[in-house]
Amino acid sequence: MINLEIPKKFEQLVDQAHQAAAEFFRPNSRKYDQAEHTYPKELDMLAALLDGLSASGGGTGAGGVRRGEKKDKEGNKNGSNLQLLLGTIEMCWGDVGLLLTMPRQGLGNAAIASVANDEQLERYKGKWAAMAITEPDTGSDSGAIRTTAVKDGDYYVLNGEKIFVTSGERADCVVVWATLDRSLGKAAIKSFVVDRGTPGFELVRLEHKLGIRASDTAHFRLENVRVHKDNLLGSPEVNTEQGFAGVMQTFDNTRPLVAAMAIGVARAALEETRRILTEAGVKIDYDRPAFTQSAAAATFLQLEADWEAAYLLALEAAWMADNRQPNSLQASMAKAKAGRSGSDVTLRCVELAGSLGYSENSLLEKWARDSKILDIFEGTQQIQQLIVARRLLSKSSSELK
Ligand SMILES: Cc1cc2nc3c(=O)[nH]c(=O)nc-3n(C[C@H](O)[C@H](O)[C@H](O)COP(=O)(O)OP(=O)(O)OC[C@H]3O[C@@H](n4cnc5c(N)ncnc54)[C@H](O)[C@@H]3O)c2cc1C
Repeated sequence: MINLEIPKKFEQLVDQAHQAAAEFFRPNSRKYDQAEHTYPKELDMLAALLDGLSASGGGTGAGGVRRGEKKDKEGNKNGSNLQLLLGTIEMCWGDVGLLLTMPRQGLGNAAIASVANDEQLERYKGKWAAMAITEPDTGSDSGAIRTTAVKDGDYYVLNGEKIFVTSGERADCVVVWATLDRSLGKAAIKSFVVDRGTPGFELVRLEHKLGIRASDTAHFRLENVRVHKDNLLGSPEVNTEQGFAGVMQTFDNTRPLVAAMAIGVARAALEETRRILTEAGVKIDYDRPAFTQSAAAATFLQLEADWEAAYLLALEAAWMADNRQPNSLQASMAKAKAGRSGSDVTLRCVELAGSLGYSENSLLEKWARDSKILDIFEGTQQIQQLIVARRLLSKSSSELK
């Protein structure tokens, strides 16, 4: 049975993550929103603190995702995925852009944690890894990537272009998706760790964005980039039976975390809106039906209910990963619900707060901008719904597109 109470053993981690978010992220939130492309140097100290936490079994952020752990004797485990989810919510309550640019917590780290072998896990320990799937001609349809990897002795030679790579400029390395043979379809797509500074791996530019401006977003060109064959994550074999499953495994771990990001930002907006409404004399009463209360209070209650649904779905997806239950469906459900709710809630909070919500005197307008990306990257709203529909109707990707 799923018990969705926060396990006692994680309470300290949640407190610590909240404290870090309150002391490091919030005070720097506006600063790095305005100073786009400037590295938030305050994070180095926080990253060192988190490294200490990770060493003692804690740790927050996308990068720490781990493979499912063994069930304990009682058959019910609250493990590292749930722990990361809770930590991520707290950190994003502070600032999602800053979390996304935390050293050593990149989405590439999640890919490494999901599909690397033991030797690779050891080799990339402590490295900050970004993730490069998207290309100028391919976003949602990641199976159609054009970047190629051609075997040459002990090396692979990579050629292509990658866009919108989160932390691409700051990370130590980038996990690049490339195809070994386009004619073999998705099964031939493999991920390769490319170290920063590898000849031919050229940073073209950094993007200017609507939100998460503290996080750098890079565009790369790869021209005859040589990476050692040991940098290929997972199996080099092209298994047409398994298809895309290998690389897609990463998303089962990262999508609940992106949901957690949206949940964290939305909670920040709800808390601030409650403060503003209370100051304005609006009473929110949980003992009376919403329709008997003021329009502002009723809207607020509705937003909270939406938030709660997203939160519970995300907990379920992480809990399933901890208990080694296949969670692709729940991961997509959580991402779809939280991605949309994150955007809806933060925007409605701007509306409820009126001109204060729209002004830079409050962070509400920033949270509304920041949350939109969480409904786009790691698979858009529409793609999550497509995945959910395929799973529920037992349709393949060619039967339902
Ligand atoms: C700030 C930022 C950071 C990012 N970070 C990374 C990163 O670190 N690594 C990385 O690889 N990528 C990253 N991305 C890219 C992101 O994952 C893609 O933008 C996303 O997958 C959507 O792809 P696209 O932009 O090409 O849109 P498209 O795929 O062209 O989609 C456009 C619209 O069509 C809809 N659509 C597409 N296909 C279907 C369908 N079959 N049915 C219904 N609707 C559909 C989409 O939902 C969307 O609304 C980032 C993007 C941004 C903006």
